[in-house]
Amino acid sequence: MSPRAKKRSRSPAIPWVRGFRPPTRQRGAEAVGFSSAGLDKSSGDEKGRGEECPPEFRVTVHFSLVPKPKSELDWLAQVNEDPQTYADFLEQCPWISKRKGSKVPPSWGFVSSGEYLQGRYPSGKVYVVCGGKQELARFEFAALLEYVRIFYKGLRVETLDSLLIEVDDRKAILVKKNGDGEIEKKKDLKFRRATESNHVQIEVDSVLRALRGPGVMPPDALCLLVLTPYDLFETQPDLFVAGMADGNARVGVFSFYRYDPHLSFSTEFWHDVCVEEEEEGEETGRGGREGAAKKKRRKETPPAGSKEGKGEKRGGGQPGDKGADNDGEEKGGEGGEGEKEDKGREEGRVQEDEDEEMGGQRDEKGEGQSDSEEGEEGEGDKEENTKEMERQKTLLERSSRLAVHELGHMLGLDHCVFFQCCMNGSGHLEEDFSQPHFLCPVCLRKVHRLCGFDVLTRYKDIFAFWEREFKQLWYCEQNELQWLKERIDYLESERAPRHGAQAER
Ligand SMILES: [Zn+2]
Ligand SMILES: [Zn+2]
Repeated sequence: MSPRAKKRSRSPAIPWVRGFRPPTRQRGAEAVGFSSAGLDKSSGDEKGRGEECPPEFRVTVHFSLVPKPKSELDWLAQVNEDPQTYADFLEQCPWISKRKGSKVPPSWGFVSSGEYLQGRYPSGKVYVVCGGKQELARFEFAALLEYVRIFYKGLRVETLDSLLIEVDDRKAILVKKNGDGEIEKKKDLKFRRATESNHVQIEVDSVLRALRGPGVMPPDALCLLVLTPYDLFETQPDLFVAGMADGNARVGVFSFYRYDPHLSFSTEFWHDVCVEEEEEGEETGRGGREGAAKKKRRKETPPAGSKEGKGEKRGGGQPGDKGADNDGEEKGGEGGEGEKEDKGREEGRVQEDEDEEMGGQRDEKGEGQSDSEEGEEGEGDKEENTKEMERQKTLLERSSRLAVHELGHMLGLDHCVFFQCCMNGSGHLEEDFSQPHFLCPVCLRKVHRLCGFDVLTRYKDIFAFWEREFKQLWYCEQNELQWLKERIDYLESERAPRHGAQAER
């Protein structure tokens, strides 16, 4: 942390949404579903009863409980979600059912003895598509795809260059091209100009309708996720919507337009949006479970705005942040009460002064440059390049979390209400930006059940990706990279013969 970091001023306590039962470490550990978490030891079965919890799924110091709301607009101040334990997931997730569903097309193949999702549907693929010109994404979409492949290691993740959203002054269309680049299918999309800044917004339902249309989705697609650089809206009074998935049709479209750190709104606008969101929530009856497998539609992140730089903060809420670690150490091997957990984290939280931090960051970059580089490039250019690089990396970082979160839903994971986890829901962009990139033990076990990867190898692959892509972002180096390193060290020490550290829970 910067030496200029200041203690965050305490905000008044915001209550959990009515009816929500805050998790404890004990209940979180039980949700992972092994006997070492206190469940029945007598019967060994797939739910893990009768098995000791292996190190990779233990609730170690690396995981903190889901944080208390800090604003009335936060997810768990507004939405009372039922917890989905690992055992619940096994019952609910259609992808791992031994029986072939009636809607399973022959093009997926089906092997009832297949252990993991891909083994069960050997020809099936997960598609992640950039819905818009690649240059509009401002980052290498291939990098995002690579990350999704590592995160869901074991699944076949593909993209489709033939599927595009094209927008000009007069029209917005979804286009499917054939192998020769000729247009094979074309669907008009509804769009409008946003009142706030006149930019194009596409109606989310029209995209879903187009994606569901005959011949658009490849026959081998288990699911299709479109990430678009265009802003989306749902109904006229909406300011925007982050995206929507149609669980039955296994398609979803989500926008990363608002993830651009260069986007800024006035403070006034920020307040206006907040009011809009509360009304929106009541009208549409948001709340309750949004299980992807059970519910037809899932809408994410209700309208809210972002002030420039808001998302840069990584003072807390990330796995591996100092507060979270202290938190766990204080607890030692004991499960704790939610209230006490949060106190530890609150005290560990710091908030940087935005302007000072930006200054400090530029200084550091300047020192890192060699003389020869400075000679070739003007100071202004260099600063421009650094800014553009940070913009691209920030967009990639935020979009990759969006992609793995939404695919998680499509693969049967509900929002996580146990630990800080990339499957946490978010009520607004600022909350979204502050959330972890990685999975808690409960959700890791679910994804492992689908994919069958080696957890340590996957962590190492994720680390290599993050080191290559995000090392320049100071907050990633301090948070995600540090956290991954600690997880890798922990698992390696646990696997090393006779040098294993004590299990922590
Ligand atoms: Zn979600
Ligand atoms: Zn989780």
